[in-house]
Amino acid sequence: MTEPSRIYLSREDIAGLVARLAGEIDGNYRDRPLALIGVLRGCFVFLADLARQLQAPVRRVDFVRVESYGAKMVSTGSPRIVQGIPRESITGQDVLVVEDIVDTGATTAAVLRYLRRHGPASLSLCALLDKPSRRQVDVSVDYVGMTIPDHFVVGYGLDFDQRYRDWPDIWVVEPAHED
Ligand code: 5GP
Repeated sequence: MTEPSRIYLSREDIAGLVARLAGEIDGNYRDRPLALIGVLRGCFVFLADLARQLQAPVRRVDFVRVESYGAKMVSTGSPRIVQGIPRESITGQDVLVVEDIVDTGATTAAVLRYLRRHGPASLSLCALLDKPSRRQVDVSVDYVGMTIPDHFVVGYGLDFDQRYRDWPDIWVVEPAHED
């Protein structure tokens, strides 16, 4: 059975990354109001922590949901927006997309494409984790908590088959070996 095997980032490590990211974002936005758009479901813990660390005024928090992964550890193809945001809700606003992890980039690219159609004043991307070695779609992350190798990680909002989202630390799941 596939189980989380070791802690990859402790809650203290994660808090350090979130504080650093908030500082970087604040440095660029100063007092400009920000709309935070989280990509469900994995972002929910990270977004809650990030929002509370930011000094920049958060004008709106909203979420989109994208269907792309099932119970498997690999992408199932092109993602679909299955829950969007109201039309014109971010038109003319500075928008920061908040992602748990960018892997192939397909999900993020679909989200950015969708949000661009809403006419934001600016659109930036923040991801707690980035796996650039897995990239298939060209997506660059403006604010990266940490670049990681090709590990499958869970905890702090990230799931495996909907489990482990509530774990406060981030763990590595080793793939089961087939003999
Ligand atoms: P992408 O479209 O970039 O391949 O995948 C993005 C989504 O896949 C993430 O938002 C996340 O839900 C899921 N994902 C990618 N890598 C991991 C991982 O290491 N662990 C978990 N739990 N989910 C991942």
